Amino acid sequence: MSYPDTQLFINGIWKPAASGKTIPVIDPATAQPIGTVAHAEIPDLDEALAAAKAGFARWKTSSPMERFQVMNKAAALLRERAEEVAVWMTAEQGKPVAQSKMELLGAADTIEWFAGEARRTYGQVIPARNPSVTQITIKEAVGPVAAFTPWNFPVNQVVRKVSAALAAGCSIIVKAPEETPASPAALIKCFADAGLPDGVLNLVYGVPAEISGYLIPHPLIKKISFTGSTPVGKMLAGLAGQHMKKSTMELGGHAPVLVFDDADVDAAVSVMATSKFRNAGQVCVSPTRFLLQDGIAEQFTDGFVAAAKALKVGPGSEAGVDMGPLANDRRIPAMEELIGDAVARGATLATGGKRIGNEGWFFEPTVLTDVPTDARIMNEEPFGPVAILNKFSQDDEAFEEANRLPFGLAAYAWTTSSERSQRIRAEVQAGMVTVNHNGLALPEVPFGGILDSGMGTEGGSEAIEAYLQTRFVTQLG
Ligand code: NAD
Repeated sequence: MSYPDTQLFINGIWKPAASGKTIPVIDPATAQPIGTVAHAEIPDLDEALAAAKAGFARWKTSSPMERFQVMNKAAALLRERAEEVAVWMTAEQGKPVAQSKMELLGAADTIEWFAGEARRTYGQVIPARNPSVTQITIKEAVGPVAAFTPWNFPVNQVVRKVSAALAAGCSIIVKAPEETPASPAALIKCFADAGLPDGVLNLVYGVPAEISGYLIPHPLIKKISFTGSTPVGKMLAGLAGQHMKKSTMELGGHAPVLVFDDADVDAAVSVMATSKFRNAGQVCVSPTRFLLQDGIAEQFTDGFVAAAKALKVGPGSEAGVDMGPLANDRRIPAMEELIGDAVARGATLATGGKRIGNEGWFFEPTVLTDVPTDARIMNEEPFGPVAILNKFSQDDEAFEEANRLPFGLAAYAWTTSSERSQRIRAEVQAGMVTVNHNGLALPEVPFGGILDSGMGTEGGSEAIEAYLQTRFVTQLG
């Protein structure tokens, strides 16, 4: 496997940082360096800002059909390159190659969805009180965007922001994850090779706080989009607010899973175990707090623990591996502390709980049962391969627990009762609710949280709105 070093992409040119500085990239399966990424500082950001300014002037006047064509070409290139890029993504992030490839093909779907959206940025004609007056609204690109994306889905997190911005006619500077830089750079290259004009799309890496601290207040930047943890999101949204910038925040979650006595337990176990341990649980919508009704709790627990034990953990590059290593060394103590705290407070460790070996950042698929509410893991996003299995008797208890936390990202439920389904739809406070299957994260459906899980959506027909502004024009005669 040859893993490429990653450069900055500014004004249509791949280049090292002006200072020549780089950051090492580590393979989480070996904890060994495999390459480097260029480390941008203020002079590089100034260059990216100038490029985004010129890029915006060019792209905002492009026709929706031009955007549609360039974006569809980029999607086609990404599909062609998915096999090769998946290997790089696995080397830098850890997930099994099949999951990397699925992420890349899903990213191509996302580009195509937003390419179509470019052609549907309709304004309105508003009936006027005076027949000689014409009243219209115009939707137009908001301006250059600054986007900040994390390491768990190196390409998927970038593609949602880039595709929506480009479809709307915005230019964009992306600060992609330093830990996993090569696969997002390969995505950016697809757009460049598809003929996107220079300066419209720019890519930087560096110290996240330095870059956000410079770009968000900068007068040229008109829109911020961030995916990451709730505390960082609140800070960046505050900064954006101070400078009156629009922002989209896709933040943390702590998804409840309500499994009622009338559920199809086998299906619930199978779908939820796959969802839980996908990407080693480092997923903002990962199912986390399982709430099992008394009648099915034992059957579900036995099945889920067996499914967790059956998973093959190993390097994502090896055939047949279900779960790769954690993506960075910070996740190991994070898991150990949360699990240790839960057990100290009386939880039972049904399986897992430990790091595997001492080479790379592998961790056992872990199941905790009977976890008390005051355990840290019941309140903080674990962002790792740990499931909490707790019981309830009355439906009201499950609804109360599902809505206990300030998060409101995803929620899962399993029931064959239409009455319960109705109540789930009405009462579970989450931006995304999926009942009897996992139907989240397709390009054409909303993707976003409420409450502390953020604001705005990165999927569905509303997503492009975040990159548009509405102006009203009224004319007499
Ligand atoms: P972190 O909170 O330091 O960073 C999370 C992400 O935010 C990273 O991509 C990081 O580069 C970025 N970031 C941090 N400070 C920033 C700043 N001042 N300006 C701009 N970007 C900034 O933690 P971490 O160790 O990388 O990840 C741990 C936690 O982050 C997880 O527990 C999880 O809650 C959250 N996270 C969420 C997602 C998601 O998809 N919502 C993805 C990755 C991490």
